[in-house]
Amino acid sequence: MSGRFTSGGAEAAFEAMRRELEEALRLSGPLTFMEVCGTHTVSIFRSGLRSLLPRGLSLLSGPGCPVCVTDRSEIDRAIELAEKGCLVLTYGDMMRVPGTSGSLLEARGRGADVEVATSAIQALPAARENPDRDVVFLAVGFETTAPATAAMLRQVRSGGIRNLSVLCLHKTVPPVMRVLCSVPGLKVDGFLLPGNVTVVAGEGGYAFLAEAGKAAAVAGFEPEEIMAALVDLVRQAAAGSYRIRAYRTRDVPREGNTTALRLMAEVFEPCDALWRGLGLIPGSGLRLGKDYARFDALGKFGLKSGAGPAEARDDGCQCGKILSGLLTPPECGLYGRACTPLNPAGPCMVSSEGTCGAWYRFNRQEAERWQ
Ligand code: SF4
Repeated sequence: MSGRFTSGGAEAAFEAMRRELEEALRLSGPLTFMEVCGTHTVSIFRSGLRSLLPRGLSLLSGPGCPVCVTDRSEIDRAIELAEKGCLVLTYGDMMRVPGTSGSLLEARGRGADVEVATSAIQALPAARENPDRDVVFLAVGFETTAPATAAMLRQVRSGGIRNLSVLCLHKTVPPVMRVLCSVPGLKVDGFLLPGNVTVVAGEGGYAFLAEAGKAAAVAGFEPEEIMAALVDLVRQAAAGSYRIRAYRTRDVPREGNTTALRLMAEVFEPCDALWRGLGLIPGSGLRLGKDYARFDALGKFGLKSGAGPAEARDDGCQCGKILSGLLTPPECGLYGRACTPLNPAGPCMVSSEGTCGAWYRFNRQEAERWQ
């Protein structure tokens, strides 16, 4: 057994879990689980865990990378704002995500003002230091980053800041998982749920998984936590009895973080949202509620919402099928040839948590074995 992710007594504990997996798989037969979160995907690759799993247990990567699921039309809107003269602030990975005709980085090359921010709160000093400019924060992410955007907007409102608005692209995880339960051709027996999202949002949103006959377990990002959750998933599937348990070194309150949830409820309201390659998913997005609507960049600058012609575009990128678990990256004709981390053709190769990037960076030899 590799010692890449274990040490001392942890190695023995890991080996015991691996044997438990093998035994449970004998009862259940072959199983396929999806790790929903990109951080899980990277952790699984980085630790070498995938190559140590028993035969009969397969892992698919899902849509839990917020950069990867950002629709082309959303990138187009951010570029439009920058080209209208706004100072656009965004997370680093978003700079290279392709829109219909290029990325924010390319727009910056043409003279647009696009800067990288590492947190929502950095938009406040940017707005104060540029009182004559319109500053737009590109708010991306799941339940993990939405509270930070909400906290920032509360300060904007209470501080009377008028030149800062938000292009709100936040999405929530449970609705897309509901969609995944009925994707034609996708056979998934259970889900490894993201611990960071669940810490905020709680477990309640996943109750439908048991009704759909899917195993589910919340896991942190340490390999031992992932392994313990996989053992639980196999046991649930073997027994045909489903209930969510959490495997994190830190507690996951079943109800989530009530302070963060209250803040989100004050600032946002649910809306339908576009997911790249997956289309419009009802109730899967967050937009600014009525008390914060004046800080919505879409309304402030008269931009249209909804998908543009980009959705019909076929450039060979298979990110939609990768994000749905229908394909693995090596099954995309562009993987490793026209699409590499240095020259990405799609967001799954751009993002540090993207499935294609993870396959390319961590395990190309193994990827080739899976073809
Ligand atoms: S390898 Fe590149 S082009 Fe293919 S699906 Fe992944 S990101 Fe898209």
